[in-house]
Parts: sequence; C-alpha cells; structure tokens
Amino acid sequence: MKKYIGVDIGGTTIKAALVSHDGEIIRRSTIPTKPTRPYSEVAEDIAAQIAKLKEGEEVEGIGVGCPGIVDSSRGYVEYSCNLYWTGVPLAEELGKLTGLKVRVCNDANAAALGEARFGAGMGFTDTAFITLGTGVGGGFVVDGKMFEGYRGLGAEVGHMVIRTGGVKCTCGRRGCFEAYASATALIRDTEFAMKNDLNSKMWEFVGGDLNKVDGRTSFECAKAGDVTAREVVDNYIKYLAEGIANIINIFRCQAVIIGGGISAQGEYLTVPLQRKVDALRYGGEDSLRTEIVVASLGNNAGILGAASLLME
Ligand SMILES: [Zn+2]
Repeated sequence: MKKYIGVDIGGTTIKAALVSHDGEIIRRSTIPTKPTRPYSEVAEDIAAQIAKLKEGEEVEGIGVGCPGIVDSSRGYVEYSCNLYWTGVPLAEELGKLTGLKVRVCNDANAAALGEARFGAGMGFTDTAFITLGTGVGGGFVVDGKMFEGYRGLGAEVGHMVIRTGGVKCTCGRRGCFEAYASATALIRDTEFAMKNDLNSKMWEFVGGDLNKVDGRTSFECAKAGDVTAREVVDNYIKYLAEGIANIINIFRCQAVIIGGGISAQGEYLTVPLQRKVDALRYGGEDSLRTEIVVASLGNNAGILGAASLLME
C-alpha cells in the first residue's frame, strides 16, 4: 500500500506522521516550532523530522497544513501571523531539502479534508467542517475535493456576517459568525450572564472566579437545570444555527462536521442544533436534509488531510 507524509504546522509544535493510503497513522513525531527563528531553520527541522519518519520506507510525497494565507497552487505561504512568515516558498524549500513532491494548504482546509476522507465525513462527497475554538475555522469539501477559493483565499467561514452592526470581530468587521459562535464568544456571553445573575449556579461551578469560566461552564450548568446557563446555551446555539444554515444554503452539503472544544458536548449540542438548522435552511424541513455530526479525528484531522493532498 502507498505511503505518504502528513505534516501539521502549528505555532507551538509541528506534528508529522507516516500515513498509509487508507488513512492509518503508521508512526508519528512532534517537534517544537520555535516560530520566532528564520523560516529556513524551521524547514530544515521539518526535513530532518521527515527523514526519520520515512526511514526504510518508500513514500509518495509530503502534504503540509500550515496556518495563515496559503496559496496551495504554488505551495506558497503568503502570510502566517502564528509563524511570523511572509512570502515563504514552503513547497519549494521542503522539496529541495527532501527530494520529494510537496503540497501545502491552509491547516483548517487540511483538517476539513481529513475529516471528509477518513473521519466523520466518510461516505459523503460534500461536507463542511467547522471548528468551534478560540475562533471559528473550517473548510469545505465539494464533490470529494477541497474548496479553497481563488488562490486558496476563500473558505473563511468564521468571517461571514450573521448580524450587521453586531459584535466587533478580530478581523475588523462587525457581526461575524466567529464573534458569536466561537468558544471565545461563548465565554464572553457566559461571563456577561453571570454578572447579571449573581444567583446562577455557574458561580458555584467556577468557584466564584470569573477567570475559570470556559466553554463548558454554561453547558454543564444548563444540564444541571440552571435557567441563566440554559439561556446562554440556547442563545449560542441560535447563532450557530444561523451560520450553519447560511453554509447549507450555499453549499447544500450532505453533512456539517463540528469540531473544536465545544463539539465535546456531543448530542447535547447537535440535537437542538439540528432541529434549528432544519427549520432555518432554504426549503425548510421538507428539503434535502444535511446531517450535523461531531468530528471524529481530533488532532489527527490535520495530519491525515495533509497526507491526503497527495492521494489524488
Ligand atoms: Zn470576522
């Protein structure tokens, strides 16, 4: 069976693995990124990491997922704020160092491809992947292929506006999906609700310390019957559903795959979310249904998606 190298570059660590054609991770390694040094040093470390992983093996090539704006047609990292890179010819550089074929894409798009091919999206041709973390990231797979927009600049799902004039987003606009559906937004809204209800069970849950509020606080206290927590969760799911319905109206994907920390809520999140999305999407409840499912690959999605860039 053919083998590939998948690399997932993050701001803190670089994860890489030797991956089989059916998406099995044969062996893996993690090295520190140390992103403040020149990119050529990072590339040399990745090449050394790959050399160890492929020892004694024949591999088809290297796929890399990288944070930031990545022109996948040229394997070029236009800009990455996590890595402090501007204009890095990563595919060319790694190709020279390893003698292998290299493809590079944005890390969220790689994760979307990984989940589509080997995770919760298996069996579907059209999927959207949304990660609910510090921000809202994700990607689209259309007819089995990654959709990135011209030069890989599209698929910025977190930055569609769902509320004109709404909360300020990190991108500079107001009312973006990310400003309502990220874990950061949920934490902000949880804290706000707690300040307005000093009797909420959420105070006890965090030991009276607002700094201990996280993406679980409102969900766990809602499950325990706290009315204020329930309102926070309902409001969060309402905005999440608006954004997902927009995505479905454009792509009419077969499944929307939810990843990131908040997806750990499982059916407590997906069941009410599915109900709301079913009612909101174009054509309503009678139209073709899009399943909302939880991502299944966790941190491996990026590596597997990157490796699969070479599988076409
Ligand atoms: Zn934005």
